[in-house]
Amino acid sequence: MPNLNEYKDVWVFTEIKDHEKVNNCALEILGKAREIADDLNQNLVAIILAYEADKYISTIKQYGVDKIIYINNIELKHYHEQIFPELIFNLISKYKPSIFLFPSTEASSALSARLAYRCRTGLVNNILNIELDKNKGDLILTDKPAYGGIYSVKIVCPNTRPQICTITAGTFQKQELKKDNIKIIEEKYDFDINKINIKIIGAPTRKDKPSASLSDAKFVIGGGNGLGSKENFEKLYKLADLTDAQVGGTRRPIFNGWMPEHLQIGISGESIKSNLYLAFGISGAIQHVVGIKDSERIIAINTDPNASIFKVSDYCVIGDANEILDGLLKHYKVE
Ligand SMILES: Cc1cc2nc3c(=O)[nH]c(=O)nc-3n(C[C@H](O)[C@H](O)[C@H](O)COP(=O)(O)OP(=O)(O)OC[C@H]3O[C@@H](n4cnc5c(N)ncnc54)[C@H](O)[C@@H]3O)c2cc1C
Repeated sequence: MPNLNEYKDVWVFTEIKDHEKVNNCALEILGKAREIADDLNQNLVAIILAYEADKYISTIKQYGVDKIIYINNIELKHYHEQIFPELIFNLISKYKPSIFLFPSTEASSALSARLAYRCRTGLVNNILNIELDKNKGDLILTDKPAYGGIYSVKIVCPNTRPQICTITAGTFQKQELKKDNIKIIEEKYDFDINKINIKIIGAPTRKDKPSASLSDAKFVIGGGNGLGSKENFEKLYKLADLTDAQVGGTRRPIFNGWMPEHLQIGISGESIKSNLYLAFGISGAIQHVVGIKDSERIIAINTDPNASIFKVSDYCVIGDANEILDGLLKHYKVE
């Protein structure tokens, strides 16, 4: 068992999205992490690994951090399964953080799992709430759906450090706070290039508008397995173009090869806060519902009158999603 007293400070992995901007969920997490750091009387530290890392520092400084530790290298332009875990593991070994929080993105989920293994510590994924045992410094990870959402459980990793978890987008609110004397530390990129045996040969191209962001969209059209085919799913994009909406969906269309992964809404995808969410052929599994619950209005179309999605919908349409989709496109004189 590690000497728990040696570990202190709350770290947040401020993941850089698409070599473009700081991941929104990471900024949300900084707000909660600030509260935890204050309760423990410890520092809040943001960790950046990126190409041209210094260009993200001014954004991160707005969210209450005491310290930023960054590594800058062209090899860090995209997430790499070997380089990122090794560099961050070295940082953990050097600084010994007590808590390390990650956004629930694909890259951070992979990274946090590798780090938890290397540190021989626990990892809890897709957290929806955090409480703190101030005396012991233990995180109490609550509201964690288990067994397909049948149970909501509390998890504590009491005797290991750092305590690592990934947090679902939209769980916390961004809180701007400017601190004085923020310490900026550049650490060396010291990964041995000869160790690399995974080569990135390309990144998938996006189908949606490049600027589209589900988390900011006012109108989201969601598709699920009930649409039945890729051809039917494609019609969502046509409707979205006509109505200035953004397409998203459940995990099933991704597994079916109908939709790219970054459009997943839910516990392991994006959370939306749209004025309107139109759900076509979606069952309403808890893992999806946590990502849509903050939408102002939900209209669901499902053939099954007992579908769970109806329990969280403002308007329930019992019917064939494809017929209704065709009808809407016809209304706009497209098909
Ligand atoms: C750890 C973990 C994380 C997960 N993360 C996520 C996540 O982030 N997001 C997510 O979405 N899922 C996630 N899932 C998967 C989730 O549990 C469900 O399996 C998924 O959301 C179901 O997708 P669906 O509703 O599209 O498909 P299904 O469950 O197959 O439901 C299809 C629905 O369509 C209806 N239907 C069928 N035909 C028609 C028709 N013609 N017209 C209208 N309705 C029709 C059916 O009645 C049914 O309700 C996760 C699961 C796990 C275990």
